[in-house]
Amino acid sequence: MKPLVFSVIILFAVIGCNTSKKIESQVVTTTTTITSDRSDAKRPKNIIFMVGDGMGLSQITAGMYSNGDKLNLERMKTIGLHKSYAADALVTDSAAGATAFSCGQKTYNGAIGVDVDTVAIPTILEEAENKNLATGMVSTSTIVHATPASFIAHNRHRKNYEEIAADFLKTEIDCFIGGGAKFFNNREDGRDLLQELKDKGYQVGDYFNDELESIQINENQNFAYLTSLADPIPVAQGRDYLQKASMMTIEALDKKDNGFFIMIEGSQIDWGGHSNDADYIISEMIDFDNTIGAVLDWADKDGETLVIVTADHETGGFAIQKGSTRDSLVTAFTSDYHTAEMICVFAHGPQEELFRGIYENTAIYHKMREAYGWKDIPASK
Ligand code: MG
Ligand code: ZN
Repeated sequence: MKPLVFSVIILFAVIGCNTSKKIESQVVTTTTTITSDRSDAKRPKNIIFMVGDGMGLSQITAGMYSNGDKLNLERMKTIGLHKSYAADALVTDSAAGATAFSCGQKTYNGAIGVDVDTVAIPTILEEAENKNLATGMVSTSTIVHATPASFIAHNRHRKNYEEIAADFLKTEIDCFIGGGAKFFNNREDGRDLLQELKDKGYQVGDYFNDELESIQINENQNFAYLTSLADPIPVAQGRDYLQKASMMTIEALDKKDNGFFIMIEGSQIDWGGHSNDADYIISEMIDFDNTIGAVLDWADKDGETLVIVTADHETGGFAIQKGSTRDSLVTAFTSDYHTAEMICVFAHGPQEELFRGIYENTAIYHKMREAYGWKDIPASK
C-alpha cells in the first residue's frame, strides 16, 4: 500500500506543469510560512547532492594531507554539521542515512525509502520528477546499493537488490550510472530489466559493449549505464568513471531545461573504512574530491546550481595518530563498522547559507526543498 500523498503527486504529474503550479500556489497561501526575504533571494535551478559514503572528518583530513595539503572541498565556504543517527540506533547505516536525506524522515537501519512502519515515502528525486525537473544518479557502488536505492526505491530491507532494481522501472529517472548489472538482467524472476528499460525508451549501455567515454547521450532519451556486473572495483584497481559519469550526467540533464536534481555518490570511502584500510579510504576520498572539483567548476560557470557535499556517517572510527607527518600518516581504527560522530555538510551556490549550523540529517531534505523554493507541503509530513 502506498500513502495518499502518492496519488496527489501522480495527479500533479497528470495535470501537467502549468496547472500544477497553479495548485501549488493555492497551497502556498494557506499553508506555508516562508519568509519574504528568503523567497526573494536567488534560488538554484539545479541541485547536485554529493555523498561520500563513510566520509568522516578524519577521512577528509587524510585525503587532504595525502593530496598535497589540498582538497577541492576547501572551495566550499558554507559548512555545517549533521546528526547522523537513525530512528532505532545512534549508529546509522547507509540505508537509514540516505533515506533521511531523500525523504526527510528518520527510519530504521536497513530501510530504503520507507518509514519506521515500512510505508513508502516519496523521495526528493521522485518529487523532482513530478515537478518536471530532470533527475540523475551516479554511484561507485551498485546502483541498487543502499545510498542510491534510497533516492528511488521503497523497500523494507536494503538487501532486496532485485526488488530495488525493479523500482527503477517505476520512475522516469533521466540518467543513472553505477554497477550491478546482474540485478537487472540475471534475476530470479527471469525479467530482463535492461531490455525493459530499452522498451521504455531508454538508451542503455553497459561495460561489456560500450566504453563510457565513447557514448553520446541522446538528449531526447533517458539514459542508463551499468558499469559492472556486481560491485565496481576500487579506484586503486583501475576504476575511473566517477568524474566522467558525473559530468556526462550533468551535461545531459542541463540540456533538458527545467532544472535538475542529481545525486552523486563516492561509495567506497565506506568500504575502505570497513576493511580498516587507510590507503583504500584515501584513494577513494581523492577520487571523490576530484569529482567535486569538476562539479564545482561546472557549477561556478553555470551560476544556477547549488552543490552540497556530505556523508551519511563515518566508517571505521578512523584516527590520525601521534607520529604522523603531513607526508606520512600513522592511522588507527576503533571499529570495522560505522560510528556516530557528527558529519560535515559543505554547500556552494545559490541558497548555500541554508546549510550553516548544526542540524539533523533529515533537515538536509527540507533545506534542499527550501532552496528550490518548493512551497507545497513535503509529502512525508
Ligand atoms: Mg553507499
Ligand atoms: Zn558502511
